Amino acid sequence: MLLYATIVDTMASKNWHPNFIKYTEFIAAHPNYKGLPIERGLDGSLNWVVANKTSTIRQGRIKWCENKARELGFKIEPGVYAKVMRKIHPTGEKVCQVCGKKMSIFYHYPTVHLINKLEKKFGIRFPNTTHISEIWDELLDSGNKESDLTEFFLGCAGVDKTLSGKTDKKSVIETLEDISRNSGKAILSPGAMSNFPDRFDGFHTYNLCCRSTQDTGRHADNMKSYTRDRRAYEYWSDGNIHAANMFMGSQFFKGTSADHIGPISLGFVHDPRYLQPMDKSDNSTKRDRLTFSDIEKILEVESRTKIYPISWYSAIVWEYVKQNYKLHPEKIPSTYRDMLKQSMVNFMYILSQIIHQTQNGNKYLIDCFLKNNAKYFNYSYEFNARGDIVKQSPRHFTDRSNNEMERYFRIALNSVDDYNAKENRNMSNSLNSAEKALLNDICKSINAGESKDTVERKIRKLVSEEQNSIIESYS
Ligand SMILES: [Zn+2]
Repeated sequence: MLLYATIVDTMASKNWHPNFIKYTEFIAAHPNYKGLPIERGLDGSLNWVVANKTSTIRQGRIKWCENKARELGFKIEPGVYAKVMRKIHPTGEKVCQVCGKKMSIFYHYPTVHLINKLEKKFGIRFPNTTHISEIWDELLDSGNKESDLTEFFLGCAGVDKTLSGKTDKKSVIETLEDISRNSGKAILSPGAMSNFPDRFDGFHTYNLCCRSTQDTGRHADNMKSYTRDRRAYEYWSDGNIHAANMFMGSQFFKGTSADHIGPISLGFVHDPRYLQPMDKSDNSTKRDRLTFSDIEKILEVESRTKIYPISWYSAIVWEYVKQNYKLHPEKIPSTYRDMLKQSMVNFMYILSQIIHQTQNGNKYLIDCFLKNNAKYFNYSYEFNARGDIVKQSPRHFTDRSNNEMERYFRIALNSVDDYNAKENRNMSNSLNSAEKALLNDICKSINAGESKDTVERKIRKLVSEEQNSIIESYS
């Protein structure tokens, strides 16, 4: 494994994920690493890995690290390299060489042991790459009390909460991290393993996400029960997303699973009014299909609740489908579904270009689109069985609700690349050259610092045009 990683690193640095290349340049240039030896190869890329035991670079790294340890007041003993490299890491997050995902260098991810315990206690099976902080938020979102979480986690660590006194989320996570690292208790594992002096930053180039020993046991199956609310963030779904999350975790869905009447992967909203209970086995087969009766149901809910059923970026295609589905019911599962899918693919492509071709496109995207949905996090909701909101009350603005919005923004922005990587295999974007020119112009506007309103108007115009092109090409 180690040998293999080394070969991949040195021979194929061109295959590094672009995020990882950025990361190595960032770290190598960071003042915290000033004087730590590294060279560049003939192609200009950093020789991040030095595996040869006799290399002078490697010896230099060891010497540097020992000096740093003395500077920091650490005793030179086994484990000190890891301690130093963790201490000086500027962000605490390492990018994975393979997939480009960021993961914490600390013990922040559940072990299989904890994953099993969580499933037994809360009925949710988390992937082993879920940050403990997200697990905590997720459990709160699905209706558990903070005090129960504290008790559960401290119980796992064998800590008496009356003794520790610190029972808030941050302290509990710190306690778990400390115990996992120092006492060998298998509660949490690190997102990146220590590996100094082989690697310049002192961490394995593979993160937990791409380590071969992943928990693959009922993985795919159980992802769904956990990721369903995440998917709405990933698809930039409109709708009252917070109410939908709350409704999904409510007693109305006990023993069943919540099904979106219109699949969110086809652009339909994440909203309690468009959720219905469904047999767990049925839901896994439904995926992104669309049927005549789904459309009828969607239209019934829309006329009753006045909540628009589809996210803004697919509204034009949806209006077309609405006008035509009765005349051509045979086209619903194929053509109309594909058109909605194409619209999603195009939107995700546009987002990715804005993110990658601009300096601060992320900020524009948050301000123009995500903030509109983030406002729903300001309230708590109560429902009737149909998902109508019968009561709404303002929430206290604690750290948690702030985190929630940040988490929403982060997941939405980070998942754009994943979507494009995954979906490109089945369907690529259908933007024509005029639309691509518009997209370039949007990126230029962002880089020129034009106003949010201007940029938003341009993005909406492009999204209208590419949808009209989709309709044209399919009819
Ligand atoms: Zn990875």
